[in-house]
Amino acid sequence: MSTIDGLPPLREVIATHGLSAKKSLGQNFLLDLNLTAKIARQAGDLAGCDVLEVGPGPGGLTRGLLAEGARHVLAVEKDPRAMAPLAEIAAAWPGRLDVLNADALAIDPLAHLTPPIKVVANLPYNIGTELLVRWLTPPDWPPFWQSLTLMFQREVAERIVAQPGSKAYGRLAILAQWRCDARIVMDLPPEAFTPPPKVRSAVVHLTALPAPRFAANAATLQRLTATAFQQRRKMLRASLRKLHPQIESLLESVDIKPTSRAEEIDVAHFCALARALDAGSPR
Ligand code: SAM
Repeated sequence: MSTIDGLPPLREVIATHGLSAKKSLGQNFLLDLNLTAKIARQAGDLAGCDVLEVGPGPGGLTRGLLAEGARHVLAVEKDPRAMAPLAEIAAAWPGRLDVLNADALAIDPLAHLTPPIKVVANLPYNIGTELLVRWLTPPDWPPFWQSLTLMFQREVAERIVAQPGSKAYGRLAILAQWRCDARIVMDLPPEAFTPPPKVRSAVVHLTALPAPRFAANAATLQRLTATAFQQRRKMLRASLRKLHPQIESLLESVDIKPTSRAEEIDVAHFCALARALDAGSPR
């Protein structure tokens, strides 16, 4: 039996190549090609775009990306056992797929891809947040990518899109929403994966804004939010004291109540506080 792209079904691919899932590599595969095509479509129009895919595994999402018209896909996979099935996909789509047997944390995507670039991935959960933080904190903005369409555990997805006042709101929300639009675009139950993970998953779509929503120095903002959320239940006048000797007046100068807590402060006010810290004294 063959599929719409003429390649064998994914269960057959896995059996042929002995690609049994390894927990150490965070392997939970998507075997339904309708579902992987749907995930690929969440990235918007792929024609005219290069795509970076991290962790293609047996290639279900890779096939979705190619079928949805990606100009070129770079698939970076750590597991050498996946090289043979991925080579079969590359042969079925001549010139459109490059595969790197490498650690995604160790590669420079720009050495292999031409803008505009979209990142689409069903990420290994053990490095998902680390990769996201890296992609959100490049040396310069805008970053190398136009959008990120990424699978996470539902709990991490909620932290990315969280609003002030919610339990999930913290550094990740501020980092993501300061320079991106971020939305949860799909929910997936454990049964969508083989083997099923213990938790629900969700796809988050982030679009890079051409410039930050509010002016702030990235390093200052990161230091500030790290300090503020380290003790998220403490009042800011206490948790931020080590950042500035007159933190109370600095907070008041940007309309933040010194008795408020980190989780109540929106991105605009964190940015204003970062600017005030850089200016060094209350305005
Ligand atoms: N994309 C496939 C799918 O949807 O069926 C597989 C997704 S699975 C959740 C994560 C994949 O990332 C696995 O194939 C795993 O081998 C790979 N992986 C794990 N760590 C990696 C790393 N550091 N660099 C690149 N790939 C990695």
